[in-house]
Amino acid sequence: MVDTAKTPMGVSLDSNSNLISRVSAYGGLCQRAWVEIDLAALGHNVRQLKSILSPQTALMAVVKADAYGHGAVTVARTVLQNGASWLGVATIPEGIELREAGIEAPILILGATHTPEQIRAIAYWKLQPTICTPQQALAFSETLSVSNLTLPVHIKLDTGMSRLGTSWQQAAEFVQLVNTLPNLQIASIYSHLATADSPDPTVMKQQQQRYEDAIAQIKSLGLPSTQLHLANSAAILSSPTLHYDMVRAGLATYGLYPAEHLQRVVELKPVMQVKARVTQVKTITAGTGVSYGYQFVADRDMRLAVVGIGYADGVPRNLSHKMKVAIRGQLVRQVGAITMDQLMLDVSDLPDLQVGEVVTLLGKDGDIQILADDWAASLGTISWEILCSFKHRLPRVAVSH
Ligand SMILES: *Cc1c(COP(=O)(O)O)cnc(C)c1O
Repeated sequence: MVDTAKTPMGVSLDSNSNLISRVSAYGGLCQRAWVEIDLAALGHNVRQLKSILSPQTALMAVVKADAYGHGAVTVARTVLQNGASWLGVATIPEGIELREAGIEAPILILGATHTPEQIRAIAYWKLQPTICTPQQALAFSETLSVSNLTLPVHIKLDTGMSRLGTSWQQAAEFVQLVNTLPNLQIASIYSHLATADSPDPTVMKQQQQRYEDAIAQIKSLGLPSTQLHLANSAAILSSPTLHYDMVRAGLATYGLYPAEHLQRVVELKPVMQVKARVTQVKTITAGTGVSYGYQFVADRDMRLAVVGIGYADGVPRNLSHKMKVAIRGQLVRQVGAITMDQLMLDVSDLPDLQVGEVVTLLGKDGDIQILADDWAASLGTISWEILCSFKHRLPRVAVSH
């Protein structure tokens, strides 16, 4: 049964659900907005990161939050093909999504899990939990022993992040307890850094010292040696002394630098590009208000382009009037409040602009490159948050530039 419709752009679609898979067939014409995921850049970033690790150090690609908005399954497959050997997720459903896609690499759940239901799901899907407290360890042991199951577990120490984990000061005691519990096998002992992206390494060094003191104590008690890991992207780029047996790379995998002073260590390429199409072009006269609240009023006659992307797609509304986009390799300013599904541009300098032309919100167009860092700087936030906001509505199109 074919429900044929003719779109205003003259593209035949047999159903809405086929729209995404037909992007390439129709040259993407049927889409108002989309996210391009550059798998070549992703593979390049993983190989670059691997190149600064010793051969004994494993690379865990952190693919939580749908791989920072890039699409977890596609990203996971690509990073594993390029040298990552572990995957990190935040939640059980994120891990299950990867397993259901047939991905067999070890998956660490970085978040805390507690209930018998969660524990059984972790065991069933062969995920590996983080154990943060003695109570949690006991809960795991109890549920697993009922089913006669054994799980590799990863001990989390709090060395100064004040988030998950048992204080480094109680580390030996904690590890000793977990070690005596049946059905739990300690696979690694890890911690997380709070200030690795700061140019001032004082706190990071203090955390590392606490981590090493705790590990030394654990060893002195004759507890079994396990894998050690501490580094996020910033720490990976900061110093090889932070690499240990494994590193956990999130942001850098996606081609962005965690801080300006870490930019020269390896060459990373941004993986995500966000694009949309011009859906209408019009002329407005001087004095005409644009969008909700008339936050922008034209001070002269101008050409205005309407673009099919808005805050529900992941373009932060607080970027209204603050962002520039690229069309035909030229920077164009955004005007008026960004709305849920659409935004407007001042295209007075592009008088022959046509409906259907591509607007680059994030990414490269000719000599222009717009980075998530640029948006983050305008908004007073971090690039991590910008990437994560593109996850719900926009189709992702894999490309290899
Ligand atoms: C998210 C996360 C990472 C990755 O951090 P990036 O700064 O994106 O590299 C590493 N470790 C833990 C525990 C995390 O939660």
